[in-house]
Amino acid sequence: MRFKPKPFTEPVGFRCLYCLDCCRGRHVYLTLKDIERIARTGKDPQDFVTFSIEGEKIRFVLSVREWDLGCVFHDPETGKCTIHKARPLICRIYPFMVSKKPLGVEGEKSFEYRGERLWLYYDESCPGVNAEEPETTITPEEIAELGLEFEKELEETDMDGLAELLERL
Ligand code: SF4
Ligand code: SF4
Repeated sequence: MRFKPKPFTEPVGFRCLYCLDCCRGRHVYLTLKDIERIARTGKDPQDFVTFSIEGEKIRFVLSVREWDLGCVFHDPETGKCTIHKARPLICRIYPFMVSKKPLGVEGEKSFEYRGERLWLYYDESCPGVNAEEPETTITPEEIAELGLEFEKELEETDMDGLAELLERL
């Protein structure tokens, strides 16, 4: 499903409705820490890591099933993630996103966090944002924190790091 950005400037209520949509047809980047965390649950990296070449960089991406482009860890019957506690950082950020530049969406405004100027959004396609009877409240601060963590981890992720990790596992 395509991310439809809406500015995220105030805390919002959230409850995942397990509508099955967000874990299909997505390009989920993995950091080395993500790969290690998932591998430590007993999963073989060969079964969940694929590669994507972007310019001069190799990115590690979560594998998908051929028949519906669903993530290999997505249960198509319940809509739930089978590795929820160890899921990748980017999955913990979704249905929100953090950008270092504005996307040109009406109502957006920058958010200063730890010396960085960020633009935060949520996915209007996700029915869990502002759902009735929310389970939790998500704040811009917690998403900004996860976004910066993701950026740092991604910078530290490369082929050498993966080779070293596979030896340690
Ligand atoms: S799109 Fe939103 S409500 Fe649906 S499964 Fe994903 S996070 Fe949950
Ligand atoms: S790891 Fe879990 S949350 Fe992330 S795309 Fe796969 S099933 Fe969805």
